[in-house]
Amino acid sequence: MFWKGAVFTREGFVGKGIDLESCSIVDNIDGEENGIIIPLFRNCHTHLGDTLARKEMPNNLSLSELVGPNGWKHKWLENNDQRASAIAGLKEVVNSGTGLVMDFREGGKAGLDVFDNIEYPGKLILLGRPVGNEELTGINAGISSLADVDNAVEITLSARDKNGLIGIHHSENEREDVQPLLDLKPDFAVHMCYASDDDLKKIKANNISIVVCPRSNHYFGNRPPLEKMIELGIDIGIGTDNGMLCTANIMDEIHFIRREYDSLGLETILSIACFGLDDIFNKDGTSTYSNLEPSGWILLSRVEEDNYESIFNPNTEILGIRWMN
Ligand SMILES: [Zn+2]
Repeated sequence: MFWKGAVFTREGFVGKGIDLESCSIVDNIDGEENGIIIPLFRNCHTHLGDTLARKEMPNNLSLSELVGPNGWKHKWLENNDQRASAIAGLKEVVNSGTGLVMDFREGGKAGLDVFDNIEYPGKLILLGRPVGNEELTGINAGISSLADVDNAVEITLSARDKNGLIGIHHSENEREDVQPLLDLKPDFAVHMCYASDDDLKKIKANNISIVVCPRSNHYFGNRPPLEKMIELGIDIGIGTDNGMLCTANIMDEIHFIRREYDSLGLETILSIACFGLDDIFNKDGTSTYSNLEPSGWILLSRVEEDNYESIFNPNTEILGIRWMN
């Protein structure tokens, strides 16, 4: 079995299709085109545990009232079935052809346990957050914000000891001093909406990657300087952030980015969506996460002659997903 169609890779579109058995790109197939083939997406920042809060979420709260340490979301999480919510979020992830999810888990060990025995055909990376002064459970750390966390140094040291990944929310709603972030040497920072050009240069010089979540930021009237991040050559990933605010569908996110960032090329946006945070996953040959690819392929319907315009046309549909384990 084959899918016939142009195949998107790091080098742009190549080949004539893919062999569904081996998942390899082939150069010779007969017959009609099936559509356009792109790699599975990477969703580099989610909070899937609040997906089912989407219908109930009040729409008049500020960022801190909604997701701050004592905010609406945390009360919702205490009183609702996070497991059902995580499953609902993962369904969006699977149905949108996403092969990698990096989920920030609140609530210590119990928060990590929410995902126990939930099947997902892609790679799920959970980044835990200790409750109070507890020790880090799991190997990766997802820190809410340095302003809210007293023991960030201990948490990052512990994750480093375990060869885990470290991600930190930063400069989401206002500019925060970048130096404390640099001192912790996280693998990536999330948001950076208010990072100055100088902050971004320091981030780049320190080999820190950035995950942007433009739809979520837009909800609170914020906007990450994605153009500048790309210009500086920063390793970038795209995330969909809180499930209650945005779908976990990267296609929705890149369609939004296309509308809001009209100076960016479509190939650049698509590359970030498919190959985001590549520097993290290939930092050194021994990294736990260095062998992420290939994770599989998505077959999209062709709705326009130009491959990129077709992918970014809101009418394109997912015709098939080939997971590769
Ligand atoms: Zn977040």
